[in-house]
Amino acid sequence: MRKPLIVGNWKMNTNIPQAMSLVQAMLADLDKIPLVEKVLCPPFVSLSAIKELVKGTSIRLGAQNMYFKDQGAYTGEISPLMLIDSCDFVILGHSERRQYFAETDELINKKVRIALESGLTPILCVGEKLEENEANRTEEVITRQIREALASIKPSNKLVIAYEPIWAIGTGKAATGKQANTTINLIRSTVANIWDQDTAKSVRLLYGGSVTGANIAEFIVEAEIDGALVGGASLKANDFVSIVSQTAVLKAAK
Ligand code: PEP
Repeated sequence: MRKPLIVGNWKMNTNIPQAMSLVQAMLADLDKIPLVEKVLCPPFVSLSAIKELVKGTSIRLGAQNMYFKDQGAYTGEISPLMLIDSCDFVILGHSERRQYFAETDELINKKVRIALESGLTPILCVGEKLEENEANRTEEVITRQIREALASIKPSNKLVIAYEPIWAIGTGKAATGKQANTTINLIRSTVANIWDQDTAKSVRLLYGGSVTGANIAEFIVEAEIDGALVGGASLKANDFVSIVSQTAVLKAAK
């Protein structure tokens, strides 16, 4: 059984007081929702304050990025050893990092490897650009991103992969549930080819891209979709709580 997972990616939003208010606005409601793993990924600077707020609750924390070395002369970077005290998860290879910070599949591979070695759960993001989608290159792009990200990494059912078509991120134009399920099915087969069937069946695969309380049901009812990576809507307490509670109801009903 794969436990449903909803992850909020706050991106570069909120200072420490704003981050704390946002958590306080959703904490009690989120904590009550059973059956779903709930993860918040605030900016690095708020992690320790939020760790105190969520102590003793069912809410877990993640980071939005990380470097692949434990320590050293890498000015401005954050290491797995710095995150492990407050985080269980780390988002890696987000399309914004690939696009604005020139992250390559090779770099992402190093990050996934050290995340797993350090005991963090990597949330590996993959997704095609609009022009690649229109040229029917989705399968080729996604398969390459996964093969390169997982190259020479031992099978691990800890891994989470988020399928985030770039044309759907922050645009209000989500994929359909069926489209997302088809690509996520392909992702599961790709993991089975690279690793093995059993691991592929147990890794959790998420959809991300303009998910809100109004459309989460469309994704969650699909068999291969285990949850969502949520950007904009995770900054609205009510919307995020609604996404998590619908996930609990719909996956429990299965
Ligand atoms: C994201 O940041 O991973 C994302 C999916 O953003 P949004 O939900 O705003 O499209």
